[in-house]
Amino acid sequence: MATAYVGIGSNLGEPRRQIEAALDELGRVPRTCVARRSSLYRSAPVGHTDQPHFLNAVARLETGLAAEALLAELQDIERRHGRERSFANAPRTLDLDLLLYDGCVLDTTPLTLPHPRMHERAFVLAPLAEIAHDAQVPGHGRADELLARCAGQHLARIA
Ligand code: AMP
Repeated sequence: MATAYVGIGSNLGEPRRQIEAALDELGRVPRTCVARRSSLYRSAPVGHTDQPHFLNAVARLETGLAAEALLAELQDIERRHGRERSFANAPRTLDLDLLLYDGCVLDTTPLTLPHPRMHERAFVLAPLAEIAHDAQVPGHGRADELLARCAGQHLARIA
């Protein structure tokens, strides 16, 4: 079994409901269970700023799936939530990112590990550090230390 961390974000279609449903669906992925989940966090949109705030969370999965197969399952869940890939940083009903998969470092067309921007985003690092403060982001460092460098990014823990 591998340990994987998944970042979950939503800013459309009742985000709290989207995220809770996504967590249920992650628990139904074959050979996979949700070992832990973070609180919900409210974050300001990045890049395209004229859109609603996001809700974010992180889940720790224990999985017998390979990383690429797990990514395909995440994309199936996104599709079931009506996710459309319109433009970078667009609003979305559900965004699932494979943040970490054991200590894997990978740079292929479908999958980059660790997730390329996670080490500089408080909305990923805060929920990650809540459930695994010493999680190592390969090439960058520990989740809680990386979060300390994101002090300027506004984030509110809401539940
Ligand atoms: P996004 O629009 O942020 O959901 O990006 C989705 C695209 O990023 C897909 O084409 C994925 O194949 C690719 N991708 C690369 N690495 C990852 C990762 N670690 N987690 C999720 N998507 C990834």
